[in-house]
Amino acid sequence: MSSNVIITGAGLCGTLLALVLAKRGHKVTLLEKRGDLRREELAAGRSINLALSDRGLAALDLVGLKENALALSIPMIGRMVHTKGGQTNMLQPYSGREGEHIQSISRPGLNALLLDATAAYPDIEVRFNHDVQEADIQNARVKGIDHTSGKKFELSGDVLIGTDGAGSDVRQGFMQQGAAIRFNYSQQWLDHGYKELEIPAGQGGAWQIEKNALHIWPRQSFMVIALPNLDGSFTVTLFLSYDGQPGFNALKTDEDILGFFTEYFPNLVPLMPDLVEDFKHHPTGALGTVKCSPWHTSCTLLMGDAAHAVVPFYGQGMNCSMEDVLVLNTILDQSHESWATAFKGYTELRKKDADAIADLAVGNYFEMRDHVDNPDFIAKRKIEMQLEKKYPDYASKYNLVTFCEHVPYSVAMKRGRLQDKWLLEYCNKNETNDISAEELEKIYSELMNIEV
Ligand SMILES: Cc1cc2nc3c(=O)[nH]c(=O)nc-3n(C[C@H](O)[C@H](O)[C@H](O)COP(=O)(O)OP(=O)(O)OC[C@H]3O[C@@H](n4cnc5c(N)ncnc54)[C@H](O)[C@@H]3O)c2cc1C
Repeated sequence: MSSNVIITGAGLCGTLLALVLAKRGHKVTLLEKRGDLRREELAAGRSINLALSDRGLAALDLVGLKENALALSIPMIGRMVHTKGGQTNMLQPYSGREGEHIQSISRPGLNALLLDATAAYPDIEVRFNHDVQEADIQNARVKGIDHTSGKKFELSGDVLIGTDGAGSDVRQGFMQQGAAIRFNYSQQWLDHGYKELEIPAGQGGAWQIEKNALHIWPRQSFMVIALPNLDGSFTVTLFLSYDGQPGFNALKTDEDILGFFTEYFPNLVPLMPDLVEDFKHHPTGALGTVKCSPWHTSCTLLMGDAAHAVVPFYGQGMNCSMEDVLVLNTILDQSHESWATAFKGYTELRKKDADAIADLAVGNYFEMRDHVDNPDFIAKRKIEMQLEKKYPDYASKYNLVTFCEHVPYSVAMKRGRLQDKWLLEYCNKNETNDISAEELEKIYSELMNIEV
């Protein structure tokens, strides 16, 4: 039976969800507080990109957009580590298997692809500049302001789904219920914030550093990463503490900024002619983890970052938010389109996986920052590459999270952490250069015998 569904937030999760629900035969009203990004200039002309991987691609495949997304992406086959001395270490592949890599994709480009696809569904109505300010989560009703006309609006549906991001206004509706639903909520900020900068394209649109890599400049308590864009530029992100030395709050003058980059990222400075101006004019963003529960009432559901914002260090926030849609779609199949049953089943199944990727993402911050140039970590990655190349059923923690979309995040976390512990102990105690085939077989059996 067709229902009237209100979705708040036409970001990556909400727009994909609208497509999937319209495909299931529902009538969808998608409310977005901003204007149509396809008709607006990018913020200060900047390209912002994201790492897209198999979970996100599997979700996009639900509506036939996987290949279209791949066509907008640049494959990143591994991490390229840049040391403080300015040297570039060898590429550390993401997998020992051919074809397992992540993709760099433009955030507005992917969002526009999803929005364009709504045109094929007459039952999706997208209302831009519709800012939802109140959500009645027991009656699937919202109130807000239409910024185009300046007028207030009210809307009710059979169900309401909040995909309005980390600062969700629909989630406020859950918080206001008090003891009625006993809503739990936590927000954990990192001491670190982030700032997006840019390496512009070189002559003739050329990429000035290796195109098919995610570049990392790890510096113990802070780091820079860079992901390629189709136009030859790279989006560069500095992750740094707000306080302390070095810290965002201490970088005040042009000399402070240039001095900091010259000291810690010498090979980046010549590639970024607008570094100081960009640094001063681009905002510093905060990073945090939001956990909450329950995500549902009988007629309202939270999905995507609205339910579980995670820090970006596993490159999984968007992938997880799009996988949410895939999971809900499967549950709707099983619950014969009963929304109340589906929403309850979805929360029960999905919450532990969202918690797992939140914890993995914080853990990966330390791994990327502190360990990618550590000898035991490098030795472990080398063995993992050999294992993945030789044994099709072996997958490292990174591989389980990133390329094994059939393995839930919670299982990937448990198995991956146990494997990591075993392998790091092994690398610490043994000579790992030139491991023989017999020894590799022994390692493989030990790892495959780990009980999860
Ligand atoms: C620096 C950084 C790097 C990241 N890198 C990656 C990466 O490499 N890979 C990855 O998978 N993830 C990454 N992420 C995470 C990813 O951006 C999010 O997980 C993803 O955008 C979540 O999608 P969403 O649709 O749930 O929320 P959002 O993308 O936040 O979309 C929410 C939408 O709701 C709208 N909205 C908000 N409030 C209202 C309202 N009151 N009424 C109506 N509309 C409203 C917003 O305008 C927006 O369009 C990164 C995040 C950050 C901060």
